[in-house]
Amino acid sequence: MSTSHATGAEAAPSAGDTLAYDVFVNDPPPQDGVLPNGEPKLFSPMASTLIYGRVDAVLTDPGMTADQARVLGDWVAAHDRNLTDIFVTHGHGDHWFAAGLLAERFGARVVASEGTIAQMRGSVATRPLLWDKVYSGIPETPVTAVTVPDNRFTLEGHDLVIVEVGHTDSDDTTVLHVPDLDLVVAGDVIYNGVHMYLGQSVTVGGFGTWRDAIDKVEALAPRHIVSGHQNKQLDDDAARQIAETRRYLDDAEHLLRSKTTALDFFNAEIERYPDHLGRYVLWAGTRALYGVRENPDGNVAQIVLGSWL
Ligand SMILES: [Zn+2]
Repeated sequence: MSTSHATGAEAAPSAGDTLAYDVFVNDPPPQDGVLPNGEPKLFSPMASTLIYGRVDAVLTDPGMTADQARVLGDWVAAHDRNLTDIFVTHGHGDHWFAAGLLAERFGARVVASEGTIAQMRGSVATRPLLWDKVYSGIPETPVTAVTVPDNRFTLEGHDLVIVEVGHTDSDDTTVLHVPDLDLVVAGDVIYNGVHMYLGQSVTVGGFGTWRDAIDKVEALAPRHIVSGHQNKQLDDDAARQIAETRRYLDDAEHLLRSKTTALDFFNAEIERYPDHLGRYVLWAGTRALYGVRENPDGNVAQIVLGSWL
């Protein structure tokens, strides 16, 4: 389930001033229902990154359910480091509803940007209307995250920089830049072999802000990117993932022009990306896009929410 990416630390284990990172890709939680093509609804796999030094470690995007928290926590524990912080890239519940359990297990602080913390509160508010209707086993979700001065914190003296990139698959998203690893932990700004969640683009009139965000990630010049949703068979090459994420948005834009119904769009995406995971996320996003198009006077928030149900 996990893939290992050590940069520096393995080469010079006694140096004491190097970092490494490791990625755990959690399986989607079970759920009921089927997609229009008859296959079971299934969420995307969710990736957490452990960035670690000789003694301490920082974990990103700790997942959603108690089951996910348990397997992720056991994987973290196996690294035998002191977990100081849990960083959350954005407010969507799939990335952080389990943060409280892991913070408690390891005595760690939860860190996010001010914008993300506001979005986390929003996800708590929509939890009974959305998340709890689809998934069981989501733990208590108090928002305990704190900001850090200038959006920077450190791991054994190495900078971890929170970069605010604006609206991507939701409002006020961020990535974590680790310059000493040439690494960006990208949350839902960049995707890797998984259908992108396009539904909330209806709230900002398209993919323009998302494209701006991808530019901001590229400007950090990372060699490695850990996408929040990924096919664990794929590597972490930054240039490939940036190019593929842009292309997915371009393709979606073309298909939105040529396909008149949600079902046609859904089928065309599957045909274009037969190996991409997370078709439930594709379907939810598609329903939001076409729901707003077909109901121009409707309540956008309501349509986006209802598209998951
Ligand atoms: Zn997500």
